[in-house]
This record gives sequence, C-alpha cells and structure tokens, in this order.
Amino acid sequence: MVMECVCCDSRIESKNRRPFCGIALRSFVSARRNLFLPESGFICNACRMCYYKWRNNSEFIDALDHIEKESGESIVKKDDKTDDENMELINETLSNDSIHKNTVTLPLNVTISSHQQCSVCREALKSTYCTISEKDRDLLFIKNNIFIPKGSRCCRDHIVNERLCTGALNEIRPFKVTRTAFAATDVITGFTKFRDHYSSARYCDFEPPFTMSDIDCYNLTGISKSNFDDLSGLLANSDMKNSSNRSIRNATGLFLTKIRLGLSNKVLTTIFQFSNAKAVSRTLASVRQAMLSNFVPCYLGFNHISREDVIYNHSSPLATRLYLKNQIQLYL
Ligand SMILES: [Zn+2]
Ligand SMILES: [Zn+2]
Repeated sequence: MVMECVCCDSRIESKNRRPFCGIALRSFVSARRNLFLPESGFICNACRMCYYKWRNNSEFIDALDHIEKESGESIVKKDDKTDDENMELINETLSNDSIHKNTVTLPLNVTISSHQQCSVCREALKSTYCTISEKDRDLLFIKNNIFIPKGSRCCRDHIVNERLCTGALNEIRPFKVTRTAFAATDVITGFTKFRDHYSSARYCDFEPPFTMSDIDCYNLTGISKSNFDDLSGLLANSDMKNSSNRSIRNATGLFLTKIRLGLSNKVLTTIFQFSNAKAVSRTLASVRQAMLSNFVPCYLGFNHISREDVIYNHSSPLATRLYLKNQIQLYL
C-alpha cells in the first residue's frame, strides 16, 4: 500500500517511514500544515530530519522536554523502542525451531527443466545458452503461476541485458504439474518476495523485463520499444547514475513523456510515482544533460553525418536528379 508523509504528502517507501506520534512531532507538523492532523500515520525521513533539527533548537528544547515530560513520552526514545521491539520479535521468531520443521506440499505448474532443452522454446540447447535468473523465475511465478526450477537454462536469444525478453516471458508454458514440498521459511521468503514485487510495481516501468506493450511505449514516449532500448543504451554511458529510486531507463521514459505530452511535473509525479515535483524536475534536468552530451552530437548538426552519407543515403530521387551531374557529383 502506498503511504504518504503526513507532513509533506510525498510518497514514502516502506523502509523510509517512521510512525507519526508524540506531542512535539505533532506540534511541528501542525505548525507547518495548519490542517487537521490525523490520529496516526507515517512521516518521511526528510521531514523527520527537519523535525530533529527543530527539536534540538536551544530556544525551544527545554519547553519541548517539559511538554513531553508532562504527557509522559519521548518521541526519540519511543521511535528507537519500536525498532528494538521489532528486532526482539524477529529474534524470537527465528529462535523458534518448530517453524523450520513445518512443511507444506503444493501442486505447482513447472516448466521443462533440463540441461539439454530450453525452458522457453523447448528446442535442444546450442553451445551458447544462459541460466534463467532468479528475478525472472520469481517474476513468472508471481505473475503467471509458472515455476521455473533453479538452474534451468534457455537459448541466448531469449535474454536481453541478462533478463528474459518480453516475448520469452509470454512464450513460457508449464510442462507438468508436480507436488513440491516447501519449508515454512520458504513460504515466508515467498511472501516477502511477493510483498517487494507488489510495493515496487509502477504504472509506467521502463526497466527490464520492460513488459509494457509497444503501443503503450509509443503513446507515452513517441518511440518504439527497440528505439527506446537503443536510446537508453546511449545514455547508460553518460554521467547520469542509476539510483535505487530512479533508474536511467525510467528517467529517460519520464523525459520523453514530458517532451511528447507536455504534462506538468505534478501530473508526472503521479504517473511515474515520484516523491515530489522537485524530484521530477531534477531528473528531467539530468536526462537533458545526458542527451546533450551523448545523443545530440551523434544525431544532430553538420558534424554527425558525412557528405557522402547525405548524397547516397539521404537524398530524395528528385533532388538526386536535379543536383547530381552524371548521378555521382553533388553540387551544394
Ligand atoms: Zn515528509
Ligand atoms: Zn529457446
């Protein structure tokens, strides 16, 4: 579930959120928002850091300590305690041996898994083959309920950037139904993976395996999926860096959507699930720089093309007839 910060309304990743409680924190947010405060909720890291700065201001620190003492709480201690409590709970669960012994047998749709046959197209494997990655195995299980056993192989052609291509993901069919035993810990790991997948799912995702349809990609960016792959490949060599919140491919998708559709940064925040409009603006600026350094010099201006290339590959038949003497020489 998407959570929003009670203070700045930006989206918060599950790992970055902290509970919104305590009289001092509530006064801080109340002064900023001037709105009715919710009973509970979450606050983002950025706002929490601002709060700590404000909380440690020597002018108010005594007054705030006094108020907290009166109401019998301390947000700093409470926050740390919550983390400690969680850790204790985890340790307790792990030390409970009985959970490891419980197993459950489930019927699963399993693909072909052999060292001689491709799990995708079921053809005999050639000398160049790839092992299907754990991410793709998880993705197929979560989305299509098809289980690919660990170590399964496929032809080299089905892999792009170390991930199965969209065509391959759609082509995989189950081969048989087998009953497989899972330990309780495997089930917990499965739930965690499902939760991670669910919370990281985006409306518009340009990241591999790039499951967006070709027409959706064109409608948003104005270019086809293969052209998008080429462009993001060029920008991958630029100074722009991948980060956990913003990949180069998604940043490129955002930039192209902006220049094609002219949507406001606020609307783009919603479509691309950015935390706020400023982050969208910063991302657009860095893609613009990367385009100027890595794309524009190769495709725009007189330097990107040779005279011969213009003559032989980019002249219309009419221009060729008008300007070429003996069909060879171009007068410009
Ligand atoms: Zn915030
Ligand atoms: Zn194959």
